[in-house]
Amino acid sequence: MSVDPKFKRIALIGLGLIGGSLGHAIKRGKLADVVVGYASSEATRKRAKELGFVDEVTASVVDAARDADLIVLCVPVGAIAKVCAEIEPALKVGATVTDVGSVKNAVVRDGGPFIPDGVHFIPGHPIAGTEQSGPDAGFAELFDGRWCILTPVPGADRAAVAKLAAFWEACGSKVDFMEPKHHDLVLAITSHLPHLIAYNIVGTADDMETVTQAEVIKYSAGGFRDFTRLAASDPTMWRDVCLNNKDAILEMLGRFSEDLSALQRSIRWGDGDALFELFTRTRAVRRSIIDAGQDNPAPNFGRDPAHKPQ
Ligand code: NAP
Repeated sequence: MSVDPKFKRIALIGLGLIGGSLGHAIKRGKLADVVVGYASSEATRKRAKELGFVDEVTASVVDAARDADLIVLCVPVGAIAKVCAEIEPALKVGATVTDVGSVKNAVVRDGGPFIPDGVHFIPGHPIAGTEQSGPDAGFAELFDGRWCILTPVPGADRAAVAKLAAFWEACGSKVDFMEPKHHDLVLAITSHLPHLIAYNIVGTADDMETVTQAEVIKYSAGGFRDFTRLAASDPTMWRDVCLNNKDAILEMLGRFSEDLSALQRSIRWGDGDALFELFTRTRAVRRSIIDAGQDNPAPNFGRDPAHKPQ
């Protein structure tokens, strides 16, 4: 039997890239009678209303949550405890509280204690994003064809979980389920480590003295610029990811450092076979990602080769 993906009243707590994209996707799919949005700044609330992805805005997180059937926390992970503590008295029985945070164990730990009996708490994470922030960065197609991982707490109401999964599917996503700790380990290698490598390499280039910054920028098409996209991601969000997924990130950084040392040794010893074997293996990973429909097969990420920067 198909599950109705619609909610009467949806509250979006946080109206940036993800909250904004969700608002647009809800409007596209007609998935709510009313979408109410909360953001801390007046500028964001005003812009969200102008862009039309919310019907109402409020400066009070409590007012946003009151009477809502679905509350989606679209704020940095470090703000989850504070927001959940504030909305606790306003949550109505039968409502579902979910989030979009990039780590899940810390959300269960920080938000869970504030969710009253009779309210469904089903954390989630859409694996979709860009390096941009704020309400103007949001767009309805962000979640199309991308995975959304739900991490229901033990004993979660099956009907509520099925409804939230149907909601994400109606927003364009494919839905998967995981234990929060497993989610954090998987995302540490697929998302958190790549961002840290990008932050590190761009930081290293920025600190160079023998190669000038002007040269780094001028010749960036050699590979460097692809790291700068990740390294331009929101500093607050990534600070909170690092602080809240510490163990899994340190585990992946440890493995990465060991493998980097092995690569360094292959270069030092002139071990061409080892280098060729690694580079062949990694090329196959790229092909698997394309075969799984998770990226564009066009060369150079589909950038127009004739594109001349202004
Ligand atoms: P964003 O564009 O920076 O938007 C964040 C929103 O949260 C803004 O509306 C901001 O309000 C509000 N906010 C910030 N700090 C707050 C606080 N302490 N208390 C209450 N509200 C606060 O960020 P985003 O990219 O949408 O990220 C939101 C969440 O999505 C994060 O948990 C992130 O881990 C997750 N996520 C991000 C991506 C991505 O690629 N960016 C992908 C998947 C999941 P103001 O506008 O008033 O400042």
